[in-house]
Amino acid sequence: MIYSDVIIVGGGPAGSTCAWKLKQTGIECIILDKETFPRTKICAGWITPKVVKQLKLNLSSYPHSLVTFRTIHFYIYGKKISVPTKQYAIRRIEFDNWLLKRSKVPYYTHHVVKIEKENGDFIIDRKFQSKYLVGAGGTYCPVYKSFFECVYPRVKTSLIIGIEEEFPYGYQDDHCHLWFFDNHLPGYSWYVPKGNGYLNIGIGGSLERLRERGDSIKKQWDFFTHKLEKQGLVNSRQFNPKGYNYYLRQRSPAGRIDNAFIIGDAASLATKDMGEGIGPAVESGIRAADSIITGTDYSLTSITKYSFPSILLGKWHS
Ligand SMILES: Cc1cc2nc3c(=O)[nH]c(=O)nc-3n(C[C@H](O)[C@H](O)[C@H](O)COP(=O)(O)OP(=O)(O)OC[C@H]3O[C@@H](n4cnc5c(N)ncnc54)[C@H](O)[C@@H]3O)c2cc1C
Repeated sequence: MIYSDVIIVGGGPAGSTCAWKLKQTGIECIILDKETFPRTKICAGWITPKVVKQLKLNLSSYPHSLVTFRTIHFYIYGKKISVPTKQYAIRRIEFDNWLLKRSKVPYYTHHVVKIEKENGDFIIDRKFQSKYLVGAGGTYCPVYKSFFECVYPRVKTSLIIGIEEEFPYGYQDDHCHLWFFDNHLPGYSWYVPKGNGYLNIGIGGSLERLRERGDSIKKQWDFFTHKLEKQGLVNSRQFNPKGYNYYLRQRSPAGRIDNAFIIGDAASLATKDMGEGIGPAVESGIRAADSIITGTDYSLTSITKYSFPSILLGKWHS
């Protein structure tokens, strides 16, 4: 049995940020993730200045691709609105691995299946034991499923399905474009150029609302990629998108039961308007670590629910 004061299940931005904070104060912790890093994560990879600040990321020394957008082109019901702003795009395959390594916390490739509680400790698959347990395993996090789901069931209407593809592409247009409610999509679609010649395109929307109409994310994807081709943004590509489901922010997000915490997507914290999940994952990871370090409350209620106000730093121009 491997013992650690804290075990974090999931090495995405939530888990690695929590580990990084704990390590800084000398608290012993380990991370378990079912994937071997670097691993692919389905995500557009947009991060905000707040994420950069909270992670104490030095942009000039970050060793991987990072693009800064000074303007974002929004299309709302077909009307173009260009917004001056300052946002960033990273590639998750690089970013997550870099954050995990930076935490300097031991990491085990292990698919967590069974979690038991014995004499106040958590026992994971009869192999790992800890006093504190942090669930950072995303939507299907086993910590959420074991302890939180029956007390804090998620609201199905807030389930988002997103599909995307990130690929090397000699893009001509290096702006970020976001289309809202195009083709009656209950969500939005994106074109996000990345560093080192990669491009990320994708769509995300309410799964329930798509189903109600007999619509599907696949039909929306076909419409979207056809549009990108017509507009000359992506040409002659055989697409092969991948998808993932996650929940938007719940009214009363679950956070802690005894010494078990959940953070990031496991706690369903993505913003209600844009589905931004990296920022809330980082912030909740820091808060869980602070709570373990200082013994103070772990509260998620003041974590940002909406992304738009901070994007709109400048004036609209159409
Ligand atoms: C298509 C799409 C686009 C998105 N675009 C953006 C965006 O541009 N900006 C943004 O801010 N957010 C975006 N999001 C949301 C964002 O990706 C998530 O909110 C964010 O990754 C949450 O981080 P996390 O650390 O909580 O979970 P994750 O990054 O999902 O990490 C969870 C980790 O847990 C591991 N794990 C899962 N189960 C187990 C298990 N049983 N045992 C061990 N390990 C396990 C997984 O392997 C994984 O590494 C997007 C989401 C989708 C689907």
